[in-house]
Amino acid sequence: MAKKIELSRFLDVFYIPEDDDDCPVERGETFCSSRCGCECTRKEFDRAVKGARSIVKRLNKVGVGWKGRVWENCGWQFGADSGSVRVWGDSTLSTFNCMISDHVDGGGGSMLWTSGISATTPEEAVRHAYSAMEDRLKSFFGAVRQAALAIDDQDHVVRMATRILGG
Ligand SMILES: [Zn+2]
Repeated sequence: MAKKIELSRFLDVFYIPEDDDDCPVERGETFCSSRCGCECTRKEFDRAVKGARSIVKRLNKVGVGWKGRVWENCGWQFGADSGSVRVWGDSTLSTFNCMISDHVDGGGGSMLWTSGISATTPEEAVRHAYSAMEDRLKSFFGAVRQAALAIDDQDHVVRMATRILGG
């Protein structure tokens, strides 16, 4: 028999969809939506909520704007977003990954960069992603600089950087 769960107490980490197909239902040990259908468990969900909250607590000590996130994808996954930066962890909280997207409010957008390296802390995951992104930006800026030099427009790189960074 399906048991109704008061999901509002997980609102800090779990968005409750209006669409019933996306809403998880508890049946025995399982806690899964009809759209997922992978028989995700309540135990996994509780662990994911705890995981999301622990990442948020940790990252908000060193940074700002981190919000927890729990979602279903054949198993309960968890992580946290700060604007366009998303971190997620594995179920044992021993490895973390980070993705930087072009969506300033988090939750989707196109991936701009992910390091592809699993880190042992959420902070390290963010550092891996942005230093990998920085390396890529250096090569883009280098190419633009070379193109500007090729037509003797040396100020172009400075004008471009000013425009991009909104200075
Ligand atoms: Zn599921």
